Amino acid sequence: MSQPPVAKRAKMADVQPKNGPSPAGGTVLMWFRISDLRVQDNTALHNASQHATSNNLKLMAMFVVSPVEWAFHDVAPVRVDFILRNLHVLKQKLGALAIPLDILQDDGPVPDEHIPRNQRIAEINVRVADLVAANVARWNAKAVFWNKEYEIDETFRDDLVKSRLMGTALVCDFHDQCAVPPGICKTGQGGPYTVFTPYRNRWTEVATRNPAYLTVLPSPQANTLPLPEPLQMLLDAGGCEIPELPSAFKVEQERLEAVRLLFPAGEDHAVKLLQDFISTKLDRYKDQRDLPAADGTSTLSPYFSLGVISARRCVSLARAANGNKMESGKAGAVQWISEVCWRDFYRNILVEFPKVCKGRPFKPETDKLAWSYDKTAFQAWCEGKTGFPIVDAGMRQLNATGWMHNRLRMIVASFLTKDLLIDWRMGEEYFMKSLIDGDFASNNGGWQWTASTGTDAQPYFRIFNPFSQSERFDPNGQFIAKWVPELAGLKGTAAIHDPFSKLDKKAFQKLNYPKPMVDHKVARQKAIQAFKALKS
Ligand SMILES: Cc1cc2nc3c(=O)[nH]c(=O)nc-3n(C[C@H](O)[C@H](O)[C@H](O)COP(=O)(O)OP(=O)(O)OC[C@H]3O[C@@H](n4cnc5c(N)ncnc54)[C@H](O)[C@@H]3O)c2cc1C
Repeated sequence: MSQPPVAKRAKMADVQPKNGPSPAGGTVLMWFRISDLRVQDNTALHNASQHATSNNLKLMAMFVVSPVEWAFHDVAPVRVDFILRNLHVLKQKLGALAIPLDILQDDGPVPDEHIPRNQRIAEINVRVADLVAANVARWNAKAVFWNKEYEIDETFRDDLVKSRLMGTALVCDFHDQCAVPPGICKTGQGGPYTVFTPYRNRWTEVATRNPAYLTVLPSPQANTLPLPEPLQMLLDAGGCEIPELPSAFKVEQERLEAVRLLFPAGEDHAVKLLQDFISTKLDRYKDQRDLPAADGTSTLSPYFSLGVISARRCVSLARAANGNKMESGKAGAVQWISEVCWRDFYRNILVEFPKVCKGRPFKPETDKLAWSYDKTAFQAWCEGKTGFPIVDAGMRQLNATGWMHNRLRMIVASFLTKDLLIDWRMGEEYFMKSLIDGDFASNNGGWQWTASTGTDAQPYFRIFNPFSQSERFDPNGQFIAKWVPELAGLKGTAAIHDPFSKLDKKAFQKLNYPKPMVDHKVARQKAIQAFKALKS
């Protein structure tokens, strides 16, 4: 699929009314964020459209480009590029409905890094709130609609915007990111779930009893024409240009092109990916999902992470393919729905335990663990030069494509936090800065789960053996051979999983591949001791 061209920087002053005429009668403003970049099945957009129609107002949309905020939240360069590419598609889709998309740019400075973190984000949030409030006035918006974002910084930002708009415009925000919104599934005692399986059981029950949770919403209605002149100018001029990839997020061109080919932008592509996955891979998902060489998963996570496709739609289509069942029927469908439920689970954890947004472990006692901050070891892990082939293959896949298979995410995270005992927060940050599907809740949840600092912690059992994981999930070494070319000649042999101990010294040296940076058995014992020490 061809990519939309990357346009020049915004020239909004050319098309927006400054002190001039506001759209007669006023508008309803839909505020898109980086978690809901789609037209179909978008809760806030759907409601904004209904509000506009019933109040005889024009619907328009806006998006705030804030490179400073994205950098502050470690959004990966390939993800920023994906945001901008999806914005192009969104603009086209909205345009076809005569709904103009206004692009606002926060050009403010990067806050001084010496001031505390919460003050820096407050500074950025104030700027965004100022932009939004000014735009509400500029476009004479009678109502502003958005979908909720759950992280703490975003919640503060939205509260600030709400207070700015009080008495000026009606504000309506909606749950949209999950199939079952956070806070709905409670234990028998009324508390939050902290273990996945009981949460999933309750989630399934709630989703089954409340058809609305899995009902796909219609797209918004087109604006009736003619539009007031300023809106028509905004729609026509293409003047609100989507910026190029900001310089702070530069990616090597060849790599960028490769990632763009792997993950084309747009909701039509995401829906097709979903449909193809359901018709060709879903039935085999349970058997194939752990094999990184098999291409057995949906690879929808980048689309989920920007809201280019909704969890509702995914679960509802998978359920339909399974005879409307979620817990029984085809094993592949049941398993896949359960994986999507993990996403809801981690959002639920974030909302119920906001401390996880503040760099705190879910299990507070694990903060006392003697984590290592060894920069050289960390660098070797980042670069995929640990001497553990399956770990290196995973990290190199991440560095090249911005995406990593789930089994490998668990293996490399376990290696960092258990074999190297490096603080999970360093791995979490590196992932966020690298992933095209970087998603705070899932990333934090995945890291804390693997590091045994999070929900369902199992410090003594959850230490992955990188060699046996490799033999089990990449039996022929096909995946390793693809990403670690030094070892490609060993494909199909047992040595590919552990060349250092399986080959003689001379043969190993010829590979020009690092020897294992730790002895896994020794490292495993050290990790167990470190966790035991927390109890004494
Ligand atoms: C250390 C670690 C970090 C992770 N960081 C992220 C992240 O930043 N963003 C992200 O989207 N996922 C993250 N995951 C979860 C998971 O690895 C990816 O969602 C998955 O690999 C995406 O591939 P897919 O779309 O082919 O998944 P599929 O197997 O097709 O699953 C469908 C969807 O279900 C959701 N999902 C599947 N597994 C999980 C899971 N374990 N936790 C939460 N949601 C899940 C995803 O939205 C995924 O797209 C992380 C996992 C670990 C262990």
